[in-house]
Amino acid sequence: MDMTENEKVIRKLYEITSQHERGFPALVKDLLMLGCERFELDIGILSHIEGDVYKVKHQVSPDDVPLNDEAQFNLPETYCSRTLEADGPFGVEHVARSDMNTHPAYAAFQLESYIGIPLTVDGKFYGTLNFSSPFAHERKFTEIDIDALKLMAIWLEGEISRQNFQEKIMQQAHLLEERNRALLEMARTDNLTQVGNRYSFFAELENQLMFSQRLKIPLSIILFDIDNFKEYNDTYGHIAGDNALVEVAKSARKLARATDYVARYGGEEFIVLLPDTNLQEAVLAAERYREAVSEIDNLECRVTGSFGVSTHPPSDDIHIEYVELSERLIDEADKAMYHSKHSGKNCVNHYAKLGLSLKQTS
Ligand code: GH3
Ligand code: MG
Ligand code: MG
Repeated sequence: MDMTENEKVIRKLYEITSQHERGFPALVKDLLMLGCERFELDIGILSHIEGDVYKVKHQVSPDDVPLNDEAQFNLPETYCSRTLEADGPFGVEHVARSDMNTHPAYAAFQLESYIGIPLTVDGKFYGTLNFSSPFAHERKFTEIDIDALKLMAIWLEGEISRQNFQEKIMQQAHLLEERNRALLEMARTDNLTQVGNRYSFFAELENQLMFSQRLKIPLSIILFDIDNFKEYNDTYGHIAGDNALVEVAKSARKLARATDYVARYGGEEFIVLLPDTNLQEAVLAAERYREAVSEIDNLECRVTGSFGVSTHPPSDDIHIEYVELSERLIDEADKAMYHSKHSGKNCVNHYAKLGLSLKQTS
């Protein structure tokens, strides 16, 4: 009869353990309930013990027993201190009639019966699996009971170890993800000015071109180059020059809308991507950038920039090549920017206007 009792435990344990998708806490509750049923006791606890701190990790208990998950006790004031002393399974059927009747836990909780076993996880002491009741146990705990307890303990030990391992893996994956994100951010950012770099700008531009085609909205870019920057460097030194580039980037970033993307395109050249912006709006924006650069007041001397604007009006061409389109758009902004250089610097030109004026002159 006893063997079939443990066979039942094994079968139930197997049933419980095969339901991983329900999550560890639900499975432990089932296991604790199985134990209560098997040992005919009322309270089941999985405890985690560190030093003298006894923490209830999971428990099942009758409604009138004031016990919660995460409840905390002083180890010497629990029967589990005896399980630890025994360094193995330990049970008592009727505390009042045993030498345990002077144990502080008896005075505190008046539990008459108890059976518990220490748990070892990954070679280290973890805590206990224990069952108890305010009532005396009618029969003696037997070897068969101990075997059932050991079976449950073995499963728990394996499961807690698996949990710890999984947690560690998750932490590492999280760390890796954060590091990757930081690396990616670094790869996308210009070291000196902390705005985007040329590489990230192209990636952003191709993305936004795709959006603007799909949503049939325009997209503009503003390219600008600091005027006479060689002279600035020659006069005030390279470090002062670096500082000026940082300040120019800052003023551009301050002006940019949340959806605009500012990047350093080259040495003293910056580029701004303006999604959902038509040519007219982009020229106005460029004027604001031009003004902002010329108004930076914490430099060795005033700096200015020459600006070029180009716009991609959404086309009906569905076989659009985004790489080619990006290059064309930048090339157009570049031509407009050079036009600004050749017409006195510190001004804004746009490609469409350039086309128009070329047509007019030819
Ligand atoms: P223009 O008005 O025609 O643009 O004249 P410019 O002097 O700005 O143009 P040029 O191309 O002759 O010189 C660009 C200068 O920008 C030269 C270079 O030393 C400087 N420059 C480029 N990158 C950096 C940088 O990272 N730091 C500093 N301090 N200077 C840089
Ligand atoms: Mg230049
Ligand atoms: Mg320049």
